[in-house]
Amino acid sequence: MSDIKLVEAPPGVEGSGFFATSLDQAIGLARSCSLWPLPFATSCCGIEFMATMGSHYDLARFGAERLSFSPRQADLLMVMGTIAKKMAPVLRQVYLQMAEPRWVMAVGACASSGGIFDTYSVLQGIDEIIPVDVYVPGCPPRPEGIIDGFMNIQKLVKTESGRRREEPQYKELLAKYGIQ
Ligand code: SF4
Repeated sequence: MSDIKLVEAPPGVEGSGFFATSLDQAIGLARSCSLWPLPFATSCCGIEFMATMGSHYDLARFGAERLSFSPRQADLLMVMGTIAKKMAPVLRQVYLQMAEPRWVMAVGACASSGGIFDTYSVLQGIDEIIPVDVYVPGCPPRPEGIIDGFMNIQKLVKTESGRRREEPQYKELLAKYGIQ
């Protein structure tokens, strides 16, 4: 609650039990602490994610323990591992099935840039097919790195205007990917 700015309450609704803030900030705070990740894990980085979910690192501390394997009930797509070009349309389909607002994290070198697999069969970064909000470096990134990436997503979510998805810049970004 500390980074939510309270404003003077209007007369009649002041005192304990009332507070006034902007709706955007309240929604941002609620969303950022209740993200539902969809883990799209294809190889070794996925194992690091398993560790991140385990009791030692415990992503649940950030309100994200409810993993979703259904795109319709997820708002954070976490792509972890090598994405073969054959798999790219599947990943894109999963992204398209997620409802707005949705965010994307590319975890590890493979998801971010193809990693060491500079070959004809591997996608050279998932941002060739879908927009990415946060990239996590490393091969593989340690769970601390994944958590850092997750906290950066939380910052984005917390500060995002409720109207961002209607803005022309956002529509333009999606249009670049051929998404309406
Ligand atoms: S970035 Fe490294 S650890 Fe992660 S999937 Fe690629 S090869 Fe495996």
